[in-house]
Amino acid sequence: MDRCSFCGREKKDTNLLIAGISGHICDRCIEQAYSIVQEELGSTGEFDLGDIKLLKPKEIKSFLDLYVIGQDEAKKYISVAVYNHYKRLMQGDTKDDVEIEKSNIILVGETGTGKTLLARTIAKMLHIPFTIVDATVLTEAGYVGEDIESVLTRLLQSADYNVEAAEKGIVFIDEIDKIARKGDNPSITRDVSGEGVQQGLLKLLEGSVVNVPPQGGRKHPDQKMIPVNTKNILFICGGAFDGIERKIANRLNTQVVGYNAARNTNKVDKDNLLQYIAPQDLKAFGLIPEIIGRLPVLTYLDPLDKEALKKILTEPKNAITKQYEKLFEMDGISLNWDKKVLDYIVEKAVEFKLGARGLRSICEAIMIDVMFEMSFDDTKELTIGLKYAREKLEKTNLKRLRAA
Ligand code: ADP
Repeated sequence: MDRCSFCGREKKDTNLLIAGISGHICDRCIEQAYSIVQEELGSTGEFDLGDIKLLKPKEIKSFLDLYVIGQDEAKKYISVAVYNHYKRLMQGDTKDDVEIEKSNIILVGETGTGKTLLARTIAKMLHIPFTIVDATVLTEAGYVGEDIESVLTRLLQSADYNVEAAEKGIVFIDEIDKIARKGDNPSITRDVSGEGVQQGLLKLLEGSVVNVPPQGGRKHPDQKMIPVNTKNILFICGGAFDGIERKIANRLNTQVVGYNAARNTNKVDKDNLLQYIAPQDLKAFGLIPEIIGRLPVLTYLDPLDKEALKKILTEPKNAITKQYEKLFEMDGISLNWDKKVLDYIVEKAVEFKLGARGLRSICEAIMIDVMFEMSFDDTKELTIGLKYAREKLEKTNLKRLRAA
């Protein structure tokens, strides 16, 4: 009977039993041994700030421009915040009287306008561990869902368990608006999805040492916890904050009562109220003041109009059309798009209310047949025309696209 030479479990009691020269090891012991190795060697990780080439804010923005269309205001805020964040890290633990505070960021903007993309691009630029978590899956300890610590589990995993690297990484928390307190009054009963989670997050945002289960979750109760200090982790939060325009409008309305009224009302651009967003609007929406205080950099993203969508389709370094061109080029085929096709794709994305996310699924619907049926030997050049694109898209189940 084969059994694990470390814990003695029989093969049938393990998920996997690996044989060595004169013994066996089971999956659980591998995991445990691995976390011991991490713990012993983790602190000698090579990661240090010297690895990061600190770009100036304008250079950071130029890098973002390569991948993200528009959103200049958000780019400016992020560039400065990231620059200051790394200056803060360089300051180290020197007992200077001026301690630079962390510049965690909160991005407010409709879904699909580039919030995640901005955060991802920053991480790509800095070559640091990065993870995205969805705030909606987080719950207070003891409730169904994921504990707050799981945020750091993911970051650790993306850093290959190099704790030091993870401690200088970036965490993007998506859908932060979904953990807002419902209603303006703090409720007496427990609010599982809202305030409790915000309190939990606060601990991470503030900077503290958190014991992180390396495998996450409660499925592995006997795993050894890894302490992670969140002091230098940059948190970027994003949310659509549906309906926050009303709160902004209310505030602006009450503000304009006064002798400046006429001047202020003239200036308000009612079509894009998000640009006036202020911390008190987040509070009115249901974020607790402590959380807002820990997210000092507040900025917004513009909704994407047709012009922006067209640029997204063709201009970024890894634009969707460029990706198809590359795929065809690898088969020795030069792929061209009729200009009208690009306009058509954008129109459909707007019509189906799919935003930038829809561009890809629409292209896929148009391109799938040609990619499948193509005889690669005799084609050297291919142009996607409007008639063809329309035919293919009309055949597609549009409901499926909507869900994308
Ligand atoms: P959000 O996080 O705001 O919901 P994402 O950043 O996930 O939206 O955007 C979804 C996709 O749409 C991205 O992967 C990207 O392909 C495209 N996209 C959205 N906004 C932009 C933009 N401003 N520039 C370039 N691509 C964008």
